[in-house]
Amino acid sequence: MSSPLELYLRKQIQKDGPLPLGAFIEMALCHPQHGYYMTRDPFGVAGDFTTAPEISQVFGELIGAWIVDIWQKMGEPEKFNVIECGPGRGTLMSDILRVVGKIPGFLDSASITLVETSPVLKDSQRKILESYDIKWSADIESLNITNPAIIIGNEFLDALPIEHLKKEDEGWKQKFVGIKDGEFVFCWESLQPDLKDHLPKLTVSNQVYEVSPARHRYITQCAELLNQNTGVGLFIDYGHIKTHFGDTLQAVKNHSFTDILSDIGDCDLTSHVDFESLSESVKRVGCVVHKITTQSYFLESLGVEQRLEALKRVGASPQLNEGVARLVDADKMGDLFKVFCFHHGYEMNVSGVEK
Ligand code: SAH
Repeated sequence: MSSPLELYLRKQIQKDGPLPLGAFIEMALCHPQHGYYMTRDPFGVAGDFTTAPEISQVFGELIGAWIVDIWQKMGEPEKFNVIECGPGRGTLMSDILRVVGKIPGFLDSASITLVETSPVLKDSQRKILESYDIKWSADIESLNITNPAIIIGNEFLDALPIEHLKKEDEGWKQKFVGIKDGEFVFCWESLQPDLKDHLPKLTVSNQVYEVSPARHRYITQCAELLNQNTGVGLFIDYGHIKTHFGDTLQAVKNHSFTDILSDIGDCDLTSHVDFESLSESVKRVGCVVHKITTQSYFLESLGVEQRLEALKRVGASPQLNEGVARLVDADKMGDLFKVFCFHHGYEMNVSGVEK
């Protein structure tokens, strides 16, 4: 039995021909009625996957301390913005606000905005953050701010669509989703002209090359906000420090990998983030980009061990150790997850990342 989203996609493809991979991912995740994120809370044991803030409160607490440090380095502006992109259940922001709320003057000066497309997740965020004054925006381009900003996002960029390209003997091809014998299938067709700007400097033939115009647009909009208002951006996600070839698109359901073209709209689709190419976009807008580091380096520099010890002294549960190990250990999330930080308008060393 086809789901309503599958029926919709079939009709689209029958009418207009195969869909570019990026448009397919966009529909599967964010179709207004049937998209994966629009219809559910996907996190936790009962859901499909989990994320750092859902694993341990220590993650958000350290980012809270990092934000306070940045605010102080910015000269404690009387008015400023904290903006989170793709806040999920609101857990990260809730852990951050618990920490920053202890700093005199911080919450009086801060305007907090969550950028979220999903009505279901927006409801969860509203509940967990009910004691704070929060604004929401469905996208970054309609944000109208006039003061310095700290923009953060955890496991957000990986959810934005990508395209698959491949250099064959006859030239560059692009991956589409079509229908063959009644089934959704991948097919390779000629490159759409706007993707020519995203081709790699060095080519490896017949290997998948991932590009994400959506991520470039998003990160450029963030950098432009910082360019106009000054501030700092911090994005944490799985991905690579150097651009390389390879197919990293994956579908996840019930904490296991599944087929990308099955259960469309009912499984999460993500891919690794190419931080080198995003750095280029951010530099073009005039931001300073810090050295991309690993999550383990970032959390250790911010004092994850000391925070763990402090929580144990006040009787934290033994599971706290396990959670922190998962975030930091090299063979778990510690090395796979990278920290991408950029800023505009200040001379500053940013804790946890090197300039
Ligand atoms: N940051 C959270 C959730 C990560 S999941 C955490 O670490 O737990 C991805 C989040 O991005 C979800 O909240 C999803 O609804 C949101 N999202 C996906 N695409 C988006 C888009 N185009 N604009 C804004 N939010 C989006």
